[in-house]
Amino acid sequence: MKKVLFYQKDTPKHQIKLWNIKLKKWYKDFNLVDLDDPRASEAPIALLWKAPMEKISKFNNLEVIISLGQGVDHIINDINFNENISVYRIVDPYMAKSMSHWVILSVLNYIRDYEGYRKQQINKIYKSRGHLDFKKIKIGVYGIGEIGKVVAKDLNTLGFDVLGWSRAKKKFDFLKSYNNKDGFNFMIKKCDIHVCLLPLTRDTKKIFNSDIFSKMKRGVCFINAGRGEHIVEKDLISFCGNKIKLAILDVFGVEPLPKNHPFWNNKNIVIWPHVSAETNIETSAKQVAEAIKLIHSGKIPENKIDLKLGY
Ligand code: NDP
Repeated sequence: MKKVLFYQKDTPKHQIKLWNIKLKKWYKDFNLVDLDDPRASEAPIALLWKAPMEKISKFNNLEVIISLGQGVDHIINDINFNENISVYRIVDPYMAKSMSHWVILSVLNYIRDYEGYRKQQINKIYKSRGHLDFKKIKIGVYGIGEIGKVVAKDLNTLGFDVLGWSRAKKKFDFLKSYNNKDGFNFMIKKCDIHVCLLPLTRDTKKIFNSDIFSKMKRGVCFINAGRGEHIVEKDLISFCGNKIKLAILDVFGVEPLPKNHPFWNNKNIVIWPHVSAETNIETSAKQVAEAIKLIHSGKIPENKIDLKLGY
């Protein structure tokens, strides 16, 4: 039986059994092997999430990696990654919708001052704090891909004016599309809420830094569910409380966020532990199984990563 290597960081051991059951519902002709299994190096296909790439790079039989999440930076940005390996990823509408729910939660938290009312309740204060006029709010979504376009559309349906940044210009009726450096700078200056949903590539690493934060309006909300390394964390801290009224972060340069990290005690920062859109085995197993089946029959599955672009 053909072997498929499986590794998913920070998940219980029984997860491999669950994936096995869900995948076999759609395709049976393979055996999942754990990274600790002595036969792991025989597998031509690997299903990975944040795997130790140094170890995996020594497996000479490996031809294909399928990311168990929508991001692939954990595979291809690793210095040990072998560029002769083809990389595919999950693209799951369930994840995009989950992300949309989380972004909406974060946006509404900011404009309706949810945190402020929670504090008032502690002191039994019963009065309006006012709120921002949603018709005047411009939301910039950076990254209009499989996730960003769903988020942008849903925000627009709620009545927000949405601006979207991508490499290529888009023709969507639910957002104003911008690209290149000028488009980026325009959105940075104009928007009241900034939402980062970019992939982490050579071009997008540290894209949110002092220079960019200094161009933002005073009192904005900054939301990051892309990757921690999209921002220069120390720069974000120095702009929190002045330019940035509220930063809502789901991803960090080092995860789990270290206990001594200054983000924890910053009253302008809300921390989420990388849960805005988790992989759902139920909804993604079918496409992973079909990808394995196609590879076994010499065909090319969907959602192949362009290694030159990095996403
Ligand atoms: P996609 O690859 O579908 O979309 C990426 C988007 O970013 C595209 O619109 C692309 O432009 C744009 N982009 C890429 N590089 C540039 C650049 N240099 N300049 C301008 N725009 C650029 O990715 P997904 O939507 O599926 O996912 C995005 C990211 O979200 C993932 O890579 C991951 O980091 C993060 N994520 C986070 C999760 C979480 O739980 N926190 C869960 C899932 C994903 P174009 O359309 O022109 O190609």
